[in-house]
Amino acid sequence: MSQIMNSSEQPLAGNVLADDALISVSGLRKYFPVTRGWMQRKVGEVRAVDDITFDIKRGETFGLVGESGSGKSTVARLILRAYSLTGGSVHFRKADGNVVDLSRLGDREMRPIRREMQMIFQDPYSSLNPRMTLLELVGEPMVIHGVGSQGEIRDRVAELLSLVGLRPEYVLRYPHAFSGGQRQRIGIARALALNPSFIAADEAVSALDVSVAAQNINLMQDLQEKFGLTYLFITHDLGMVEHISDRIGVMYVGRLVEVGDTAEIFNKPLHPYTEALLSAVPQPDPRRRSSGKRVVLKGEIADPANPPSGCYFHPRCRYATDLCRTDTPQLRPVAGRSVRCHYAEELDLTGVGA
Ligand code: SF4
Repeated sequence: MSQIMNSSEQPLAGNVLADDALISVSGLRKYFPVTRGWMQRKVGEVRAVDDITFDIKRGETFGLVGESGSGKSTVARLILRAYSLTGGSVHFRKADGNVVDLSRLGDREMRPIRREMQMIFQDPYSSLNPRMTLLELVGEPMVIHGVGSQGEIRDRVAELLSLVGLRPEYVLRYPHAFSGGQRQRIGIARALALNPSFIAADEAVSALDVSVAAQNINLMQDLQEKFGLTYLFITHDLGMVEHISDRIGVMYVGRLVEVGDTAEIFNKPLHPYTEALLSAVPQPDPRRRSSGKRVVLKGEIADPANPPSGCYFHPRCRYATDLCRTDTPQLRPVAGRSVRCHYAEELDLTGVGA
């Protein structure tokens, strides 16, 4: 049985992580200060992530979707502790079964845990140092964490390149010799170097052609099955997220507005923002039902430094009432999902189910 541990490795009280969960994010917040003048006086704050709560089960892919500026990438960086948290907690089940609250850990305590949590970045062109060979790039995490001798690192890099479909004899080549899709595979190999249990993929295939992106998605799914990996898959591409994710969370202006099973959400969204996003997904299969009408979202995503009153989505929502302009809806359970809308039970929204 696993123990819940705090930063000083003392057991924590309470059942903060379900038995099937790898990560539990609760009340996660990140506010960036807005400053002015040479004194850098604080005049406001940008609520990039505001009270986010969700679990990621072991071995599943959790997709985080929303428009650019919704706070998706910030959530990933908070989970991986690339940013400090303004508030909330991130409980993580380590490989030894013990659970730690990452929000309480200092850099030194985070160091061994970073081996178990990795990230794949959006841009395969800028995320790889052009002056490093594949041996150096893919082997670097092992060097940083002092894992293996030179020979062992070389063997491991060759093994990782094979795993991602690249030839092991390429170890002394530089990234510029590879295509965008291959560079993304180098990034995947690097992320796998230390046998992580959790990988956050931030718009990992967005910069690639559709066919190359599909190949890399299939590779990620094969690797997930082989190594029991758990993914947080961040994207604005709902077509892609439907293909890869078991469950999804839809974000709007730093908040989750709907969380649930991917197929159920695609079939019948319960939040108007989800409906609008789904209506814009191209449907190559004519048998798939759709409203026939695209829901055109008026205006831009709200400014997290100056969000609207009430429901943040109300200026763009075609179902908004006076209540929506004054009262903030909470994320609450509706029909086996979590939804942030006053009218989730009453609205009859259209998805893209078969
Ligand atoms: Fe639209 Fe009102 Fe629901 Fe917000 S609470 S999504 S404005 S109907």
